[in-house]
Amino acid sequence: MELTGRQNAILEIVKSMGPITGEQIAEKLSLTRATLRPDLAILTMSGLLEARPRVGYYHSGKYPHHIVAKKIHSILVGDIKSVPIVVSEQCSVYDAVVTMFIEDVGTLFVVREGGLLEGVISRKDLLKTTLGGQDIQKLPVGVVMTRMPNVLVTHAEESVWSAALKLITHEVDALPVVRKVVLPDGSDKYEVVGRLSKTNITRLFVELGEGD
Ligand code: ADP
Repeated sequence: MELTGRQNAILEIVKSMGPITGEQIAEKLSLTRATLRPDLAILTMSGLLEARPRVGYYHSGKYPHHIVAKKIHSILVGDIKSVPIVVSEQCSVYDAVVTMFIEDVGTLFVVREGGLLEGVISRKDLLKTTLGGQDIQKLPVGVVMTRMPNVLVTHAEESVWSAALKLITHEVDALPVVRKVVLPDGSDKYEVVGRLSKTNITRLFVELGEGD
């Protein structure tokens, strides 16, 4: 059975968050409940999802029978992640550009002491600042980065498929791989432990094609 992108997205949401109501799934996908109704009906009729009144949808434990899909869903972010390249918020735009060249990456993660995630900076963020004619030797990346809580993240136990869906849906090139830490004051933070980029996924695609 071939699932559509949206049906796969629903399945992933229910797998990681179920039991979950149709309303909540719709909210996660920024769609209306009515739009999802046919997809939920197909997933329920095919036996992939089960629905219980007043509880919601939960995963039946069955998976799409497609062998490639099965394999892809079994690979975790932790299996293919790379080393994160990080800078501090005070790092200048100039030094960030140099770091991108030296480390050969297109996305830098901005962290504070302890490797705690503060933001993310992409090639276009840096290019944009050069258009403004500002002194890039003095301007800190903290001024131009995308800041928490607006940074999309993944974690080592998430499936590569679900992380790839985030990259495509939100049109970004990389996700920081994080681990949740609780600070002494009780607040939750993310420690950056890796990097998942479109390159990791393309490499995996090539390896799968080679039958590795
Ligand atoms: P590029 O600038 O090379 O097109 P992206 O598409 O990744 O790279 O970045 C586009 C915008 O999205 C930038 O403003 C960047 O700060 C932001 N961005 C990049 N990665 C993330 C992420 N993981 N979460 C949230 N925003 C991101």
